[in-house]
Amino acid sequence: MTDKSSPDLNSDQQSDLAHGAAWMKGRVIPIAQASIPVNDWGLVHSDITYDVVPVIDGAFFRLDDYLDRFFASMASLRLDPEMDRASIIQALHHMVGLAGLRDAYVAMVCSRGTPKIAGTRDPRQCQNHFFAWCVPYIHVIKPEVLAKGASAWIAQSVFRIPDASINPLVKNYHWGDFTKGLFEAKDNNYETVILADSEGYITEGPGFNVFAVKDGKIITSDHGALGGISRLTVLEMAQHHNIISEIRLLTIAELLNADEVFISSSGGGVMPITKVNETIYANHACGHITDILRQTYWQWARHEAFRTAIAYLDH
Ligand SMILES: *Cc1c(COP(=O)(O)O)cnc(C)c1O
Repeated sequence: MTDKSSPDLNSDQQSDLAHGAAWMKGRVIPIAQASIPVNDWGLVHSDITYDVVPVIDGAFFRLDDYLDRFFASMASLRLDPEMDRASIIQALHHMVGLAGLRDAYVAMVCSRGTPKIAGTRDPRQCQNHFFAWCVPYIHVIKPEVLAKGASAWIAQSVFRIPDASINPLVKNYHWGDFTKGLFEAKDNNYETVILADSEGYITEGPGFNVFAVKDGKIITSDHGALGGISRLTVLEMAQHHNIISEIRLLTIAELLNADEVFISSSGGGVMPITKVNETIYANHACGHITDILRQTYWQWARHEAFRTAIAYLDH
């Protein structure tokens, strides 16, 4: 395969890229060399959206679904990547192919960019831009932590930002609520945090959706949370296994009284949470329904229908 934008990649550069690569303005570079301007509104105003598609065993998983969400997010924020869908797909293939990563976390990002007129407060006067980056696959909770039983803390000092203020369906960098919650969780010796809204309903956590399992049914929030593609996969897998799912208000009490709790994310698929606050589920082990969904996720990740194979360079 020839590659005009990154000629003469020597083996050092190739192994550099394998630690992480970025696609910036048509060039694939080591991630450590990728940067955006200090006055980019993506940085100074969190005026940016992104998406993350996993690469599993040499192929993108559900690429079309992630791209659909990314394009919907950009439209919602009135961001124009100045690239069409085919060019973005090509950029992602090019970048991951050059990096040679067979299991990867692949981020696509569109930022408001820098103002064309210095000091303007008019978002229409910014030069939007698209970029992408990839690193070896990320588990939002490490497998060794999951194996021992992962704990989550329901934050008390902070609520999930209201849907009416920041649309949670648009994947975003407004992590002030999650970060505050993570400090609270870590200070209390919990692995991660789950946020409730101001009314006491469960929403989601930093980069994952939350599910309660009760009497054989699975329940997840209908608001305050991203429409996770892994959440969608969970709902489809549940249907496949004749497990009833409910998308509705989920109270803190209901989560604490559940039989099992699990989270879903493109960074790790379906992951059991064995303890929330003081409550321990399924004897501190992965519950039965969670286990079925977790195994099915990794099977589905290898189904041809969901896969878009990457053309790797031979090296
Ligand atoms: C990315 C993300 C998720 C999980 O979505 P997936 O598409 O399943 O990876 C959930 N919540 C937030 C806030 C996220 O950023």
